[in-house]
Amino acid sequence: MRTDIVHKGAGKLTYEIRNIIGIAEKLQQMGVKVNLENIGDPVAKGEKIPAWMKAIVADLAMQDGSYGYCPTQGILETREFLARRNNRNGGVRITPEDIVFFNGLGEAITKVYGLLRSTARIITPSPTYTTHSASEAAHAGQPPVSYPLDPHDHWYPDTRELRRRVKYNPSVAGILLINPDNPTGAVYPESILREIVAIAGEFDLFIIADEIYQNLVYNGRKAKPLAEIIGDVPGLAMKGISKELPWPGARCGWIEFYNAGKDPHFARYVRSIHNAKMVEVCSTTLPQKAIPRIFGHPEYEGWLEERRRRYERLSNLAHEQLKNVPGVLVNRSDGAFYMSVVFEDGVLNGRQTLPIGIRDAGNLVEELTRDGDMQPDKRFVYYLLASSGICVVPLSSFNTELQGFRMT
Ligand code: PLP
Repeated sequence: MRTDIVHKGAGKLTYEIRNIIGIAEKLQQMGVKVNLENIGDPVAKGEKIPAWMKAIVADLAMQDGSYGYCPTQGILETREFLARRNNRNGGVRITPEDIVFFNGLGEAITKVYGLLRSTARIITPSPTYTTHSASEAAHAGQPPVSYPLDPHDHWYPDTRELRRRVKYNPSVAGILLINPDNPTGAVYPESILREIVAIAGEFDLFIIADEIYQNLVYNGRKAKPLAEIIGDVPGLAMKGISKELPWPGARCGWIEFYNAGKDPHFARYVRSIHNAKMVEVCSTTLPQKAIPRIFGHPEYEGWLEERRRRYERLSNLAHEQLKNVPGVLVNRSDGAFYMSVVFEDGVLNGRQTLPIGIRDAGNLVEELTRDGDMQPDKRFVYYLLASSGICVVPLSSFNTELQGFRMT
């Protein structure tokens, strides 16, 4: 090449949740029975799609209109349905014009960060779902800017620290919150959400709320939607069907923009996202058609409630098993289907000596963990995988200062 052709942030696009699968596959070939707990796909974990939902999709699949492109922003009737659903709850009102569909939130996330001026930073939680932090770091070509979630306080955001970091970093233009959270399973209290909105208001920032798990909340909790408390601060919420239906293969998610016209910079940014979507023509048609029919189906709420009860049982079971293990800090999840485990300093130091039944697997792990600088939790995850077949993701790969990973 006559010149370097790679964006300076490209190296920041890493995704350990998938990387670990390559190792799991090698171990499977060696005869280790692997239990994939690294990815949030309820269908892959055996969840059944109810017959009434399949009937809706089958009916749509018989209609010629489901096979064409749809309007760039998304199907109008679906956007009208979603705007009505939002407006029923009080809070900020939206119109169908404030909604744009994407081919999954993965696409929405890359657009949201990719269209920001490279000097405008979004402060992301630590730990955070890596698609956000990696996309943010890639757009800036710099390490992520983050604020801590506190494992000693249910993984809630440390808002004092958030405020301090926003104050002393003038390049921060927006705050990301994920509620319910991936990877911690935390559901934020309304008071904390209001503090985050107040910080955004005070420093003239916008808010990005990833609310893909909004309706998967249990243990008697509720996740307050950003729309209900944002007031006149500019913001956007990301929603989708990958987890709630669950239909991740549909590649269908949407953004709701709040107070899009109140600030000229934010208004231009929102327009740029609309335009970027136009270049792509549109998002998946059939799932968009299905949304009002599925969400409006008489069995929908009961079916969702049954799933919430199941997640609650599983979350409490995992918490019960782990909470008394010495050196381990774990919080109960109240939403989504994840749990984060922190090891106290020193617990993971040194090389793990878990029994590894399969000789070749042991050799593979030896080889993979030879790097002396490897984060201790990552080494532990490799040993856990090879010795028990349980495939989880090291917390240090979620852009976090925890587990010995220092951000620079
Ligand atoms: N946001 C969060 C917090 C997620 O956990 C995920 C997927 O795991 C996504 C977004 C991406 O969802 P989609 O399947 O719509 O791309």
